[in-house]
Amino acid sequence: MTLQLNDASLLKYQAYIDGHWVSADNGKTLTVTNPVDDSPLAEVASCGTEETRRMIEAANRVQPGWAATTAKQRATLLRDWYNLIIEHQEDLARILTAEQGKPLSEARGEILYGASYLEWFAEEAKRLYGDLIPAPASDKRLMVLKQPVGVVACITPWNFPCAMLARKIAPAIAAGCAVVCKPASATPLSALALVALAERAGAPAGLINIAAGNSKTIGAELTRNPLVRKLTFTGSTAVGKQLMAACTDTVKRTSMELGGNAPFIVFEDADLDAAVAGALAAKYRNAGQTCICANRLLVQAGIYDRFAEKFTRAVTQLNMGCGTKDGVDIGPLISSQAADDVYDLIEDATHKGAKVLTGGSRGTGSFIQPTVLSNATTDMRVFAEEIFGPVAPLFRFETEAEAIQLANDTEFGLAAYFYSRDLSRIWRVAEQLEYGIVGVNEGLVSNEMAPFGGIKYSGQGREGSRYGLDDYLELKYLCLGGIDA
Ligand code: ADP
Repeated sequence: MTLQLNDASLLKYQAYIDGHWVSADNGKTLTVTNPVDDSPLAEVASCGTEETRRMIEAANRVQPGWAATTAKQRATLLRDWYNLIIEHQEDLARILTAEQGKPLSEARGEILYGASYLEWFAEEAKRLYGDLIPAPASDKRLMVLKQPVGVVACITPWNFPCAMLARKIAPAIAAGCAVVCKPASATPLSALALVALAERAGAPAGLINIAAGNSKTIGAELTRNPLVRKLTFTGSTAVGKQLMAACTDTVKRTSMELGGNAPFIVFEDADLDAAVAGALAAKYRNAGQTCICANRLLVQAGIYDRFAEKFTRAVTQLNMGCGTKDGVDIGPLISSQAADDVYDLIEDATHKGAKVLTGGSRGTGSFIQPTVLSNATTDMRVFAEEIFGPVAPLFRFETEAEAIQLANDTEFGLAAYFYSRDLSRIWRVAEQLEYGIVGVNEGLVSNEMAPFGGIKYSGQGREGSRYGLDDYLELKYLCLGGIDA
C-alpha cells in the first residue's frame, strides 16, 4: 500500500485475537479498495466462525478479571489509549480517507470525535454509582449494584469506521466488559489501527478482539454464542432487525443504532442564513452518508423560493473531489454501487416532477455531484427512504401542523432539525417531533456529552453521555436482612 504514514506499523492486515495478530485460519483475505477509483489498497484477513469463537472465548476468559479492576485502572487504559490516538491523529486520518473517501479535514475531525468517547468514558468510569433504597422494614437494607453485562459484541459500519467503534468499545471497557468486534468489510484498516493503539496502551490480551470477514458468518456466531451477553450494532435497519431476531435465542441485550430519515424544517420566522448554514452541515457532511443527515428539507411556502435560492448558491460552492486534495468538501461515496443507488433516487424524483437546481448528475466512479432538488413531493422515494448521498430534496409546506405531520410521517426516528425564532413554536415543535435527537437552530448535534440514539425503527439504546454506560451494565438488587437496628 502506497499510503505515506509517520508510523507505518499502524497498518494492520490481520485479525487481533487474544493478544495476537493472526491470519484467517484458511488464509483467506478480503480486498480493501480506495473509493476514489476502486484501486486496491490492501488485503485483510477474512475470518469466519472459528476465529470468531476464539475471540469470544478469549474475551470470556478475561471478563471476570476485567470486571474486578478498579474504575481508575479502567480509566487509565482509556486515557492512555486516547492520548495515543491524539498523537497519531494524522496517520489515522490518512488511513480513514484512503479507505473511506471522506475529505482529510473531516477524517481528522472523526478521529478527534472518536477519541472524545474514550476521554469521556475514562471519566464516566469513575462515576458508576449504585443506590441505597429506603427499606420497607427497619431490619433490612436495600441496595443496587451496577455490574458489567459481560462479553460485548460490536458490529460497526463504514461511514464512521473509527468513531463508531470507539463509541462502542469505550463504554464497554469503562463498564468492565471485554469486547469482540467486527468492522465493516469496506473499512477495516481504521478499526484495526485503532485496536493496534489499544494494544500499545496496554490493553490486556483478550480484552479487545477484532476480526474482519464475512459478515453473515461472523454475525451468526456473535449472535448464537451464549458467552456473548450483549450485541451493539450500528448499521441499516434491515440488518439490525435480523440481528435482534438472532439474539432472542440466547436472550442477549441489544443496542441498535439504525437508519434515519431526518426532516430539516425551515419555518418562515427562521434566520435564513443560519438555516442555510445548518442545512449545508447537516446534509453534506461525509457526502451525505451519515444516519443523522438531513434527508428531507421541509420549507414553509412564504420563504421557499428565497431559501432555495440561497441554499443552492451555497451548494454550488462545494468542491467535489479526492478527499486527500486541499479544499475538497465532497468526496466519493463508499462504492460505485452506492452512487448508482443514490442516482436512482435522483432519477425517480425528476421523473415525478422534481426540478434540479444544481448538480443532479452521476460523476465518474463513486462520485455524485452535490445536488438540490425543488418541488419534491411525498410520492417520491426520497421522502420515505434514507438517501445516504449528497442530495437535498426541498418539500413545501404551509402550516406548522402540516410540517409536524410530514416530519413524523416515517418509520424512522433518529434525528430531526428545525429553524425558528419563535420561542413558543420551538417548544411546541420540539415536543411533538418523534425523534431521539432534535437540533433546534443547529445542524451539528453529535458530541460525546449528549445521548445519541433513535426511536421507532431507528433503534434502541443511547451512546455517549452519562446515560451511555447504562447499556453495558446490569442492575443487581441486594436485600440485606436481619439487621439489629
Ligand atoms: P451499511 O453497510 O449500509 O453500513 P449494514 O447494516 O449493511 O449497513 O452494515 C453494517 C455492518 O453490519 C457492517 O459491518 C456489515 O458488514 C455488518 N453486517 C451486514 N450484514 C450482516 C449480517 N447479516 N450479520 C452481521 N453483520 C452484518
